[in-house]
Amino acid sequence: MRVADLHIHTTASDGIYSPAEIVEQAIAVGLSTIAITDHDTVGGIITLDTEKETRINVIAGIEFSCNCLGEEIHILGYMCNVKHPKLLAMVDNISVLRKERLLKMLSRLNDRGYAITMEDLHQATGSALSWGRPHLAKILIQKGYFSTVGEVFEKLLYSGGPVFIPRTKPEYTEVIDLMHEIGGISILAHPGIIKNAQCINAVLDAGIDGIEIYHPKNDLACRGRLEVIAKDRRCLVTGGSDFHGMRGRFPEKLGIWNTDISYADALQIRLNEQQE
Ligand code: AMP
Ligand code: FE
Ligand code: FE
Ligand code: ZN
Repeated sequence: MRVADLHIHTTASDGIYSPAEIVEQAIAVGLSTIAITDHDTVGGIITLDTEKETRINVIAGIEFSCNCLGEEIHILGYMCNVKHPKLLAMVDNISVLRKERLLKMLSRLNDRGYAITMEDLHQATGSALSWGRPHLAKILIQKGYFSTVGEVFEKLLYSGGPVFIPRTKPEYTEVIDLMHEIGGISILAHPGIIKNAQCINAVLDAGIDGIEIYHPKNDLACRGRLEVIAKDRRCLVTGGSDFHGMRGRFPEKLGIWNTDISYADALQIRLNEQQE
């Protein structure tokens, strides 16, 4: 059976494995199509020669964090041209904001007695252009302050928590418009964790191309509701595992949570149409 995974993170953001390692793992577990969708960066997918890869279909993607009706939502973008100047301008801007914000959070951790340095941060982020809270969690665990990422988030890093600093994010309309402008496709990521149900109507009204229905955080009832909406709005349906490779966060292995290949094929067909 051919299966796909259209939502995967790498070391370019907060994933544990490099893009090349993800490709090898995906082939080993029998995936036919994957998409690399790092938080706010294409720095990972850009390192792969996807045209020359004959063993597996690799789709270029990104996962944008954005504001929608006062809430943070995530929008997946899939595209053929990862080097589009408008896309690169947006991600460069976000990268700077993310770095500034993490430095401020580092300083808050220092104020609370956690002895972590800039050097630790550079080591933890490595080649990542998109710095995030999981990088701080990694350092705190390495230094023995906590034992799991979940615990660090629960105690310190949670939204509104003692160390948390919000990020400046684009509006959902900006992200959807950008994707259309560059011939890409926008998909609402993991709607099951969105608190305000109005966000789903808002993104659909703004012209989003589809919904990520098959995600581990969308429960069965949620998937049923979304299937009705997708049919009604005649939009694309996708799915992905949101694999980060982190211990203690489902799925811990690539390939244990898959999406039917038909959704990946439909996405690929739409991408090809946009290119013509
Ligand atoms: P940031 O982009 O810096 O705001 O960090 C958000 C990222 O942290 C998300 O994309 C998740 O990958 C990760 N994250 C959020 N909450 C948790 C949690 N409770 N446990 C593990 N990872 C989390
Ligand atoms: Fe993440
Ligand atoms: Fe997400
Ligand atoms: Zn994700």
